[in-house]
Order: sequence, then structure tokens, then C-alpha cells
Amino acid sequence: MIVVLDGPAGAGKSSTAKAVAARSGFQYLDSGAFYRGLTVVFRQMGEDIPRFLERLPAMRMEARYDGSDFRLFVDGTDLTDQLRLPETSARVSVVAALPEARAVVNAALRRFVATGDFIGEGRDLGTAVFPDADLKIWLTADLAARAERRAAELEAMGLGAEAAQVRAELARRDTLDSTRQADPLRKADDAVEVDTTHRSFDDQVAEVLRLIAEIRKGNNPSPNPQNP
Ligand code: C5P
Repeated sequence: MIVVLDGPAGAGKSSTAKAVAARSGFQYLDSGAFYRGLTVVFRQMGEDIPRFLERLPAMRMEARYDGSDFRLFVDGTDLTDQLRLPETSARVSVVAALPEARAVVNAALRRFVATGDFIGEGRDLGTAVFPDADLKIWLTADLAARAERRAAELEAMGLGAEAAQVRAELARRDTLDSTRQADPLRKADDAVEVDTTHRSFDDQVAEVLRLIAEIRKGNNPSPNPQNP
């Protein structure tokens, strides 16, 4: 079974998907890590787009989830520690807008989920990568709530940042991701929307588990009527 969670930056996709994976026996797929890994390499290459595009087809991307970190390797080098650095986040939408990069990542994602049950999170999993996913969820929250959560996350990583700056960065990334030509950030027509603005974390995890249970029973998943 393939379950996908798409939505804007900071909506809680990765923490929700990890918690659901831990409770459902599904494997976890972080598609953003692949774009972030390519971005680390892109930066190492001095952001030289022609040279990067030349090297891209030969790059070997592998991933492993150890129950806490989603580890990403490019050509055998573990880049995990660099994936969430602010300088990586600031450039990832540039790399993600390159159709050549998307083709390489999509092939790696499809290889990764070739066997077993997966819950993946990203921007275009339901629209472009896994259009036949068993369950598609559009996880969203208003910008202020997303910025507040992301600032707390950065703080916990020892990378404290101004709330206003975090908010501007999320808004900038959402604009780039949703206006690009290649597979933009967009809700799939058949995705169920879960707005987490007023939900607790436990509640949003429970809602995703409930939707998975509905699918298993063969029902058409519909949002909880209490969903604001
Ligand atoms: O989810 P995360 O914040 O790690 O994603 C980082 C970036 O990777 C996004 O802002 C977007 O540019 C790109 N991305 C994408 N398609 C996906 C997942 C991520 O374009 N499926």
C-alpha cells in the first residue's frame, strides 16, 4: 500500500508521516531529502547548473530510514547532516525546479518503494510520482502556524531563527514550489485535505491512521466532519 502526504513547507508532513510509520508498520519515505541531497552537491559544485546537469545522470542516490533519521547518500557519501542546513533549504527550490533533477529523483523514489507498504511525504507525490497511490492526503496549515512550528524545530536543532525570518522563508519556498513549470506543488484532485492549523500533533496522526483504516476496509476516505 502506498500512502502519500503532500503539502506546503512546515505543515508537519515529515513528523506526521514518521509517527504514522512507527504505528502502522509502514516504511517512511522523505522525498524532500532527495532534492536536499542534490542541493548539497549542487552547492559543492559552486552552483554551476550546466556542470551539475552533466553530472546528474551518473549520480547514484540511495536512502535508508533508521527509525529517526532518513539518511541520504549520493555516490556513497552520507549527506544527511547537511540536508536541513539553512543554506541547503535556501537553494533547494532552485534544484527542484530543474526537470532533469525531478526525473532522477522520481526514478530513485519509485525504486525505493518497489516493495512493501510506504508512507511518503513531499510536494508532488500524489500528482506526479505515485498518481495511483492508495491514499492521498493534502496536509496543510496556515502560514503563521507553520512558521511557528518550524521555528521551534530549528530551535531544537540548535539553529535558532527569528519567527519573521522563518515565515518569510517558508512563504518564499511555497511560491517557488507552486509556480514552477515542472510538477508544481498542487493538491491532487482525489486527495483528502487535512488542515492541521487547529489540530494537535496526536490528533493529526490519529486522523491519518483513521483514513488508512478506512482504505483498508475498502471505504472511500472522506475528511473527518470535525475537520475545520
Ligand atoms: O519537504 P522538504 O521541505 O524537505 O522539501 C524541500 C524542497 O524539496 C521543497 O521546498 C521542494 O522544493 C522540493 N520538493 C519537491 N517535490 C517533492 C518534495 C520536495 O519539489 N516531492
